[in-house]
Amino acid sequence: MTQEPVIVIGAGVIGISIALELQRKGNSVRVLDRKGVAAEASAGNAGAFAFAEIEPLAKPGIMRRAPKWLLDPLGPLSIPPAYALKIAPWMLRFWQASSLDRYEQSVGNQAALMEHSRAALDRQIAYVDGEAMMQRDGQMQLYESDAEFRDSLPSWELRRRNGVAFDLLESPEAIAEIQPGLSPRFTHAGYTPGWMNTTDPKRWVQHLAQVFEGLGGTIERQDVRALEVTGERLRVVSRDGSTECSQVIVAAGAWSHQLATTVGDNIPLETERGYNTTLPEGAFDLRTHLTFPAHGFVASRINGGVRIGGAVELGGLKLPPNYKRADVLLQMASQFLPGLNTDGGTQWMGFRPSLPDSLPVIGRSSKSAGLVYAFGHGHLGLTQSAGTAELISAIVEGQTPAIPLDPFSANRF
Ligand SMILES: Cc1cc2nc3c(=O)[nH]c(=O)nc-3n(C[C@H](O)[C@H](O)[C@H](O)COP(=O)(O)OP(=O)(O)OC[C@H]3O[C@@H](n4cnc5c(N)ncnc54)[C@H](O)[C@@H]3O)c2cc1C
Repeated sequence: MTQEPVIVIGAGVIGISIALELQRKGNSVRVLDRKGVAAEASAGNAGAFAFAEIEPLAKPGIMRRAPKWLLDPLGPLSIPPAYALKIAPWMLRFWQASSLDRYEQSVGNQAALMEHSRAALDRQIAYVDGEAMMQRDGQMQLYESDAEFRDSLPSWELRRRNGVAFDLLESPEAIAEIQPGLSPRFTHAGYTPGWMNTTDPKRWVQHLAQVFEGLGGTIERQDVRALEVTGERLRVVSRDGSTECSQVIVAAGAWSHQLATTVGDNIPLETERGYNTTLPEGAFDLRTHLTFPAHGFVASRINGGVRIGGAVELGGLKLPPNYKRADVLLQMASQFLPGLNTDGGTQWMGFRPSLPDSLPVIGRSSKSAGLVYAFGHGHLGLTQSAGTAELISAIVEGQTPAIPLDPFSANRF
C-alpha cells in the first residue's frame, strides 16, 4: 500500500478501472485526463464484453486477403493514402506477427488474458453493484453461405479448445429463433450464449468513476505533456505545472506512446479508427449482439436503441474523420435487418489503441520501475479492462500477477 497518491493518466475504461482497483487495495489515487471521463474510445464503442474473441487480427493468410479489402476505400479495412507511408513500419510488424508460430502464441496469451478478465469483470460488477448495466444476451456471428460458414469452422474449433461455449446454427429458421427479422441471406451462424454487453459503455465508465470518486478518489483535468525520470522518482509534466511522485500508470489509450516516448520507450502503438451510428430506442428489436464478419461490423443494443459500427481505418490520430464509412455500414445494416429504422442516428468515430500483435502492453517501463504501462487493447479494451486493472494493481503492489506478463511486456517489440 502506498501513502503518496498513485497517478493514473487517462480516464477511459482502462484508467478508471485501474484507479478503482488500486483504491480498493488501499492506495490513494489521482486520475489525470485532459478531457474528462470516457471522452475518447471508451465513450462510443459497441459495448461488448467479447471474451470469445481470442484470435488476433494478425493471423496467417491475412496479408494475402488484405489487398482485396484495401481496393474498396470504404471497405472494412482502409488506409488513407495520406497515412500509407507512416503506417508502413507498423504493418511490417503486423505481418511478422501473423506467422503461424507467433499467431499461436498470441492466441494462447489472449485466451489467458480473456479468462482472467472474465473473472475479474464478475468481481468488478459485484464491487460497483453494476449488474443493472449488463445485458446477458449472447452474440451471433452470421454467415451468408455454406462456404463462408465452413471457412469459419477453424476459428470455432479454436474457441472450443479454449473453453468458449457456442452453438452452430445451420438454417435461417434456427437463426430466427434467436434473432427474428434478419435477411434470409444469412444461412448459418455461430451463437455464443455467454457473451454479454453493457447497456452503454460511456455510462458504465461514468458509473465506475462515480464509485471511485465517492470513495475519495480524484479525477482532474490535466493535459500531460511529458514524463521525466529522476532517480527513483517521476515527474508528470502537464500544461499547467508538474507533479512529483513515485508511481505513474499510463493508460492514455491511443496517445499513450506519445508519453512513453518522452522517457525513451518507443512502443509501436497505432490507432485503428472505427465508426458507428447509434439509432434511438425502437429502431429494431435487437435480441442479441450481431456480428457480420465478412463485412467487418456489428449491431449492438445501446440504451434500448441500436448501434451499428465497426470498420478499421489505419489513419493515425490527426486526419479528419470520414463519416461516409458510418453511412456505408448503416446502409448495409438496413439490408441485413430489413425492418431497421435508420432515422435519427448519431455518428461517431473513435481511436482504438492497437499494437501489431493485437495484445496490449501491461507492464513496467524499462526506464523506471515506478512507471507502468496499460494500453493498446485494440478492439478489446472494454472486455479486458477489469482484468488489466487487477494485473496492474498486482504490479504496483509487488504481488505475483494472475497470469504471466512477459507476453504483454513493453519491451517485446
Ligand atoms: C467502433 C469501436 C467499437 C469498439 N467496440 C468494442 C467492444 O465492443 N468491446 C471492447 O472491448 N472494445 C471495443 N472497442 C475498443 C475500446 O473502445 C478500446 O479498446 C478502449 O476504449 C480503450 O480504452 P482506453 O481507456 O485505453 O482509451 P480511451 O478510452 O481512448 O481513453 C484514453 C484517455 O486518455 C486521455 N489522454 C490521452 N492523452 C492524454 C494526455 N496526454 N494527458 C491527459 N489525458 C490524456 C484521453 O483524453 C482519454 O480520455 C471499440 C472501439 C471502437 C473504435
